[in-house]
Amino acid sequence: MNLETIIIINMSIEISNQPDIKEIQNLYKTHTVKEIIEFFLNKIDKDDTKIQGAVRLNTELALQIAEELDKKLSNSTIDQLIQKQPLFGVPFALKDNILVEGQPLTAQSKILDGYTASYSSDVYKLLEEAGAVLVAQTNMDEFAFGSSTEFSGFGQITKNPHDLERVPGGTSGGSAAMIAAGMLPFAIGTDTGGSIRQPASFTGTIGIRPTYGTISRYGIVASTSSFDQAGPIANSLADNQLVLNILQQTSDKDQTSINKPIAEDKKKIKIGIPQEFFGDGLDPQVKEIFDTVIANNKENFEFVEVNLSMSKYSLAVYYILQTVEAAANLERFDTVRYGNTSDHPNQELFFDGRSLFGEEAKRRIMLGTYTSSAGYYDAYYNKACQVREKIRLDLQEVLEQVDALIMPASPFPAFKIGENASNPMSMYLADIMTVTHPITRVPALVIPGGTVIEREKKLPVGIQLVGAEGEENTLYRIANTISNR
Ligand code: GLN
Repeated sequence: MNLETIIIINMSIEISNQPDIKEIQNLYKTHTVKEIIEFFLNKIDKDDTKIQGAVRLNTELALQIAEELDKKLSNSTIDQLIQKQPLFGVPFALKDNILVEGQPLTAQSKILDGYTASYSSDVYKLLEEAGAVLVAQTNMDEFAFGSSTEFSGFGQITKNPHDLERVPGGTSGGSAAMIAAGMLPFAIGTDTGGSIRQPASFTGTIGIRPTYGTISRYGIVASTSSFDQAGPIANSLADNQLVLNILQQTSDKDQTSINKPIAEDKKKIKIGIPQEFFGDGLDPQVKEIFDTVIANNKENFEFVEVNLSMSKYSLAVYYILQTVEAAANLERFDTVRYGNTSDHPNQELFFDGRSLFGEEAKRRIMLGTYTSSAGYYDAYYNKACQVREKIRLDLQEVLEQVDALIMPASPFPAFKIGENASNPMSMYLADIMTVTHPITRVPALVIPGGTVIEREKKLPVGIQLVGAEGEENTLYRIANTISNR
């Protein structure tokens, strides 16, 4: 098809600023899948020039899948097809650390430059089976270390659609920014210590970190195996929940995969406000949004103050365990088995190759190797494991008294590009609101709570809802009452 015909088709397709899954599937009453997928590929090509959320388009694969779906569409109605494939014809994007057979993947590290995935992740297979069409892979901080999407090993910096001078959050910032800009109805991110939830908060989108083990990690580049979980980012709660339900399947390829526990139905929901997350350091404007949301929902829920006294250790425990596991996981990138192997004489291969890691990856390898080395193992790694269990018990006890917790996902709205770039410590501290949940395996959902004005720009602030393991549906129920999205 030449460009002229694509433009003519595009003009006949009308969609809203933030199209959702239903809206797109409705178009299949009058359009082919190929037309709609081409429309979205063009849209991203155009809209993403400023945002820089995508690292590559999967044009060939997307059009090939569209052709297969069009064969089905010529024999059945879209409603019949949705019964069998709930995401029939829905375009989406994947973070660049989730494998798709035959597609390039780098986790935004130069060490993986030139790598093509030889198999597909469970996450991708489930979405493909459900009829979704991969159109783009999204930007991230190298190996999912970071909180801003400023640190791809290739230099691409994703911008926040609400203010192009600010970060979209990280590390799934590419996915979140594309959704916030209305380029797609949903995208997949991964969350080790907040990488779905903090970007959702910064971009005014909806993102969930599910109960650990309920989404298979098979085929996802490992950062911190005992924390990593994938999850959807979307503009509507219904879309987010639909995609989550498709992804939550047990897999025999992931040893930590579990059946999603079935939560009991609750009548009057009681929500705890953990005092530790509303104290010093919280931006007063962010605090005000929470005061308003809580005041407006007094009739709907019972709110009580609770204490998570062990959470003051979360950040320290997180960064000890994170770096130890990351250092171990990064050992496999020896430049022999993966990626960039060219131009090195044999004996130099290892040293030259490992130097392709970015600053942050090197920092984490050094820290993790140190805290798990023979002399320091008991003082740091082992101690952190013990404290992790104490934090889990503390949270579990609180979640026996209340059905959910409400708290920020970040102490402040999106920060400026470059603001935290030279100080890794201040970047780590920004994770204070999101690291307790991976440590304790519980699910956490972030929804838009309101906006604050900074330098004449409206910046979104997210509300984080936290439940006990398997309580995802309770979180959506609360979210549907608080938000009209
Ligand atoms: N900011 C945290 C870190 O740097 C979390 C990142 C993530 O969730 N992938 O480790």
